[in-house]
Amino acid sequence: MERECLILRSVRYSDHDRVVTFFSKDEGLLSGFARGANGPGNRFGAALEPLTWSYLIGRHHLEGTLYRIHKASVIDCFIALREDLERMYWAGAAVRLLLSLLPPQHPEQPLFDSMIRYLKDLESERPAPSLSWLRFASLALVFLGYGIQSGNCYRCHEDLSGRTVTYHVPDGKILCRQCLGSDGKRDGVRTQTDVLALLERWGKNEDVHVPVPADWIDNAISLIDSVFGHHIQNWIPVRSLPLSLG
Ligand SMILES: [Zn+2]
Repeated sequence: MERECLILRSVRYSDHDRVVTFFSKDEGLLSGFARGANGPGNRFGAALEPLTWSYLIGRHHLEGTLYRIHKASVIDCFIALREDLERMYWAGAAVRLLLSLLPPQHPEQPLFDSMIRYLKDLESERPAPSLSWLRFASLALVFLGYGIQSGNCYRCHEDLSGRTVTYHVPDGKILCRQCLGSDGKRDGVRTQTDVLALLERWGKNEDVHVPVPADWIDNAISLIDSVFGHHIQNWIPVRSLPLSLG
């Protein structure tokens, strides 16, 4: 059976072989053994390079053994990404996210499609990479069960539209100023409900066609970094990468 996959990681196993971790559209995160994928006579060409969208053919020879990759062919290797270090950083953040959060062998088709869309958007540079990242990250959070929600104060239920609030990262709740004090929850991120509402819309896969203010983008990237930092050990904040966020 031919599988549509995105190659996430490829590790040299011996002089001749590689172990490849890939995101399969139909089967989710898998690792496979590719005999002869190293060195001269590599019969897979570039199809097993990280950040390549490929068709793979292979199978599990025995229950519980590593998947064996028999054949691979490139659908798209996102060449324009590879020529631009900054865009590679943006793409790399999504790859790290998927490697950290995807459960093994669990199909996540919409997330697969949104990752391919993210890579295509990064290549085209429209919209801005920072917006593409926020869109992909918001959607990824929803699929993984940590979707961002705007709305009312979690505790007193006051409508917080248009207000500055504290987003409490561990449980994904928002609190008004009064409740923040009385709840004793201080490990939160200062943000605005407008920013949360934007992330919520992207999480529903909605397109946003209005200009997004630069300070919102900045704040949203920090917020998303905090959420990933909470769920992923050793998350490298996107804010710490040498990127222009505009
Ligand atoms: Zn409140």
